[in-house]
Amino acid sequence: MKKHNFSAGPSILPQEVLLKSSEAIMDFNGSGLSLIEISHRSKDFVEVIEKARSLALELLGLEGKGYTALFLQGGASMQFLMTAYNLLEKKAGYLNTGTWSEKAIKEAKMFGEIVEVGSSKDENFNYIPKGYSVPEDLDYLHVTSNNTIFGTQMKKFPTTNVPLICDMSSDIFSRQMDFSQFDLIYAGAQKNMGPAGTTLVVVKDDVLGKVSRKIPSMLDYQVHISKDSMFNTPPVFAVYTSMLTLEWLKNLGGIAAIEEINEKKARLIYSEIDLNPVFKGFAKTEDRSIMNATFNLANDKLKDTFDAQCKEAGINGINGHRSVGGYRASMYNALSLESVGVLVDIMSEMERKG
Ligand code: PMP
Repeated sequence: MKKHNFSAGPSILPQEVLLKSSEAIMDFNGSGLSLIEISHRSKDFVEVIEKARSLALELLGLEGKGYTALFLQGGASMQFLMTAYNLLEKKAGYLNTGTWSEKAIKEAKMFGEIVEVGSSKDENFNYIPKGYSVPEDLDYLHVTSNNTIFGTQMKKFPTTNVPLICDMSSDIFSRQMDFSQFDLIYAGAQKNMGPAGTTLVVVKDDVLGKVSRKIPSMLDYQVHISKDSMFNTPPVFAVYTSMLTLEWLKNLGGIAAIEEINEKKARLIYSEIDLNPVFKGFAKTEDRSIMNATFNLANDKLKDTFDAQCKEAGINGINGHRSVGGYRASMYNALSLESVGVLVDIMSEMERKG
């Protein structure tokens, strides 16, 4: 039976990407060797990582604008400390929009003074703070574009003179925006790009080299840039699969094309949540995410019925995160509108049956 994969991450990837990457495990480019048993310095793999790096910049519209794309390891969690290590001299600002922002703040505190410019902790992060001001003496401001756990998403980003860093782990490549407003973007691969194991970092070269501390090589963006993202052995399978997904996205028409589909999926599920009294949404309407829709049952007694119907229909991964409870439907780029339709049909059936 066809599964409808709403998993929050690692999450759904395009079928054709899974097929091609599994073929490469057995025989990479007709070489008679597996992708994962050849040198990362072989011509074939160097072409892969170079292509992945340039596709990332191309899709984000950042080619030729002074940015470098790197495929690093350690997950987005490593970027919580690496950003601070490389950019925080005295004081940095953080917008606290949830668990992942809090974790980024915790790491950055080891390197300097942290100012929380705004926080939505008072309402369990069900909204994005607005109307906050950004001090001008910050080394940078760090924001999280999409809050995977709470289902909120920043629709606008602050205009500021200080460098802007964005954790885009759960909505990169899903919607159009002016990516050049950011000085550093990072995203774990395992949502819209590939398997876990690599993290995309897109950094504007001129924000680096300004801190006085010594930085260990593996944590130094400038070292990775100078070695073309091959300072050490890269996670070859994760990079290859990410390259395939980026190619898939480009062939589809890029971010503009996928955004249209993502908006349709979001409209479909949110209109059901808004109109169906059996369910109530978690995130404030104006801030809700087109990637992760969070909702609860109005009456918990219906849980067993709803869960059983979802299971019967092949729906996977809609349990909410433990800090929110309820449900979370993650609708990343590779999830089809049809899959959202299957979930929405079950939701409306719940109302019909009373
Ligand atoms: N930031 C966000 C927004 C996330 O959703 C996640 C993971 N779900 C992380 C950071 C942490 O990523 P990782 O597990 O790759 O360290």
